[in-house]
Amino acid sequence: MAARTGRRRAGRRLRTAIGALAVALAAGTAVGLPAAEARAAGGKVVYLTFDDGPSPAYTPKVLAVLDRYGVRATFFEIGQNVSAHPGVTGQVARRGHSVQNHSWSHPDLRKLSGPAVDAQVRNTDRAIRAQTGRTPTCLRPPYGAVNATVRSRAAADGKQVVLWSVDPQDWARPGTAAIQSRVLRDVRPGSVILLHDGGGDRSQTVAALPAILSTLKARGYGFGVLCG
Ligand SMILES: [Zn+2]
Repeated sequence: MAARTGRRRAGRRLRTAIGALAVALAAGTAVGLPAAEARAAGGKVVYLTFDDGPSPAYTPKVLAVLDRYGVRATFFEIGQNVSAHPGVTGQVARRGHSVQNHSWSHPDLRKLSGPAVDAQVRNTDRAIRAQTGRTPTCLRPPYGAVNATVRSRAAADGKQVVLWSVDPQDWARPGTAAIQSRVLRDVRPGSVILLHDGGGDRSQTVAALPAILSTLKARGYGFGVLCG
């Protein structure tokens, strides 16, 4: 019984490790930091990403913390939220952050037809471009769910698919301390850190940010933007 449980645990650990590697490799393909910025940070760079916004309640709070620490980040926004709160998207862009595509309505893109995937991506591009003047160059599929159709449609649209390598599961609201400790435990040079500024109550994420940023800075990390 114990042996069977052990084998099952080992299997789960292996699957988790393989999943993390796949995500890291996918994320790594899209890391586009200017070489000078990476050198200035001694090669120790992390990429903060915020999904599911813009949110009028939480995005401005995230922006205020990032401003306070002089940190730039990448925001993967949902088209229908951009359409509902266009001024917030404009604010994100004006503060120097990268605004990228996270689909129009947050479906599992694997379950859609090719033309429906295109509509999710292009309508979101249009909404973001109207506020930022720039067309997103990257797509983060909701749930990180990709298949051959999603990849080929994204490529045909000139989009790189960007996933992540550090996931503190802040969306599940595990507590501010848990969000901080998970990020600070798992972060490595080049990490793409997944956080959320929309999709629900993000007060724990906002509260976790100052300690995450100050600790990473104390460890000598610089902060890059993706797809900018
Ligand atoms: Zn999302």
